[in-house]
Amino acid sequence: MHMFMATLSTETNTFSPVPTVYSDFQAYFLRHGTATQEPANLMTEALHLWRARAEALDWQVTESLTAIAEPAGLTTHAAYAELTGEILNDLRAAGQPDVILLQLHGAMIAEGEDDCEGDLVSKIRTLCPDAVIGVSLDLHCHLRDRLLEAADLVITFREYPHDDATPRAQELFNLAHRVLKGEIKPVMAMFDCRMVSLFLTKTAQMRAIIADINSIQATPGILSVSLAHGFPWADMPDTGARMLVIADGDPALAQRTARDIGQRFFEARNGLLPDYPNLDDALNQVEQAPSGPVVLADMSDNSGAGAPGDATYVLHSILNRGMANVASGLSWDSEAVQTCVRAGAGATVTLNLGGKAEPASGQPAEVTGTICAIKTGLGQHLGTGLEPLGTVVWHRLQGEVDLLINDLRIQVYHPEVFEQMGIALAAKHLVVVKSLFHFFSPFAAIAKQVIFCATPGRVNPDTRRIDYTRRDLNFWPRVDDPFASSDESSACKEG
Ligand SMILES: [Zn+2]
Repeated sequence: MHMFMATLSTETNTFSPVPTVYSDFQAYFLRHGTATQEPANLMTEALHLWRARAEALDWQVTESLTAIAEPAGLTTHAAYAELTGEILNDLRAAGQPDVILLQLHGAMIAEGEDDCEGDLVSKIRTLCPDAVIGVSLDLHCHLRDRLLEAADLVITFREYPHDDATPRAQELFNLAHRVLKGEIKPVMAMFDCRMVSLFLTKTAQMRAIIADINSIQATPGILSVSLAHGFPWADMPDTGARMLVIADGDPALAQRTARDIGQRFFEARNGLLPDYPNLDDALNQVEQAPSGPVVLADMSDNSGAGAPGDATYVLHSILNRGMANVASGLSWDSEAVQTCVRAGAGATVTLNLGGKAEPASGQPAEVTGTICAIKTGLGQHLGTGLEPLGTVVWHRLQGEVDLLINDLRIQVYHPEVFEQMGIALAAKHLVVVKSLFHFFSPFAAIAKQVIFCATPGRVNPDTRRIDYTRRDLNFWPRVDDPFASSDESSACKEG
């Protein structure tokens, strides 16, 4: 047997004016067939697992491109053509592999191509009509017919924060192996839940949904169930959540099951809509908290959803209020990092920090402080994967306001970002992290309180306020029952 594998991953925020270019993949993670020679990150965990499984079976393995960029605006046509061209050329050179496994994002949009994953996998199918093609996606994907028609097997991560990439890759490998052995004949169906939101899977409500999915997956005839949450900040006609079911040779069972479990998810919707405080209310809560650390998520400046990562709204408010004993990170500002590197640790410098990348960044903040540390080559964990950080600077202002500034756009996933720099979070009253949800589990373990804050910025978590022009507005939570106007009142339709 011969297995071919590759990774192409970025999540496109169509509202961001900052294009995603080839050098953004180089800056984050770009390897030409060598990704599995390095420690795994979220989007290469699958490749490591698939290689190990294939080699244990004595299969030939062809590893192609791994290209990962931090989310931003549309990927340029040139970058998309270059990256997909490399995968397709590698595939032509590999001949006719028996199985092709891909770790893709599912929400990549390029100039002139709204459906990058569907486009790529269709081209792969044309080249290899007889191969078993399996695709693993981030759950923040746009699940579409073109991909389901081109692939044999599609699954998504199940957890948000994404701490299950390896078990999901294992599941995909097992299914592909069973197809190769002639044991199963997968058929896929999906159901449009008409929901556009964010779903943290660590809440009790979402644990119940996950338990439901797990139990359905264990029933006879069902091979796999995935809930694709969708990615709200993409103005696509089909943005939103989809329930995906793979059944064994029974299309009607796949459709019926996707509809049933999708409908149950929809019916649970009102327990899934948190009320996030605005910045002023959140900082009032912080000031009233008897003890710290209080962890505040600057949700709207999460670069992991395409925000700039250099927004200054929270910093300005903290300084205006004269708040002390604060740690905040990561602010993305390459210029400020260079200034600090030139000055060196121990120097006192004035920075015009952040507020530069795009209109949603706000205004720069003039801050004067001491450079306490400068470190390069550190990493931070997201699940078991290790993600890069670039060069990180610890800049300490009066009142023990400790700012972490770096030169690689990345959200904060783990307290080790601060701790490796020498900042003891346990002693802080307030810890600000630029992230939506991925930070949650490891920070909740050290926090007295976690506040999810709907800060001003590019990715405000209230999806009712997103200015769609291509996506119609008949979705929950914009309307309570988007199925009410259809011919099946408050029931669900196949999608
Ligand atoms: Zn995701």
